[in-house]
Amino acid sequence: MNLDLSTKAEITWCPGCSNSQILVAFRQAVDEIVKNKELKIEDLVIFSGIGCHGKITDYLNINSFTSLHGRLVPTMTGVKCANPNLKIVGFSGDGDSLDEGIAHLIHAAKRNSDISLFIHDNKIFALTTGQFNALSSKGFKGKSTPEGNIEEPLNPLLIALSSGATFVARTYAGDIQGTKKIMQEAINHKGFAFVDIIQPCITFFDTRDYFKDKIYWLEDNYPRDDFNKALEKITESTQEKVSLGIFYKKDKPTFEEELYK
Ligand code: SF4
Repeated sequence: MNLDLSTKAEITWCPGCSNSQILVAFRQAVDEIVKNKELKIEDLVIFSGIGCHGKITDYLNINSFTSLHGRLVPTMTGVKCANPNLKIVGFSGDGDSLDEGIAHLIHAAKRNSDISLFIHDNKIFALTTGQFNALSSKGFKGKSTPEGNIEEPLNPLLIALSSGATFVARTYAGDIQGTKKIMQEAINHKGFAFVDIIQPCITFFDTRDYFKDKIYWLEDNYPRDDFNKALEKITESTQEKVSLGIFYKKDKPTFEEELYK
């Protein structure tokens, strides 16, 4: 029997928003790993920050915590420190964790805290109706940059990898099965798992056409333990192609293991 992870909360994302695809992928991911006895549902705690993504905790019948803007990562690491037996998964927006909360992201990756962070990457501040953020491309025209953004975007995967994350991956919300599998591997990873989920905002920055011909999955024999290969893949030009998959995965003692030694 499938777990009923739904709630009575009305879904208020824009009709057709790709956040719904992330929600479906996560429900399926959790349902399967609970059925496989890899996780007890009562041991899972989910977190969100502020932004369109933040509503996801309202739509999941799982222990949850909605944090302040950009502050879900320290909340996650605090809960994990207090009870290392819990499985900690956070949902965050690119504005939430790459603008407001970027210092927390870097330090959680550096410590290899045993948590998973899923970024809903729509490359704008969507909840506030489309202002540019740290991941917006140069030239992006939005509410606060009507003549075009003059800054280059950050590469979130490069930040996670160079800060010490031991699991670094990217997926595309529209590929629900691919996203589900990446989520499962991230949840089962011991250490800091960073997953960038490309999540087009169909209302304020619809990038579906841009990405649909560019995305491709890494080949099956891609060497996940090769740091330099990961660096090469995540810095390759995104003008022509955008790779999806697990770029890097490494076993390393976690912050909580070191803390409780
Ligand atoms: Fe989704 Fe964009 Fe609407 Fe937010 S504003 S719910 S990201 S489509």
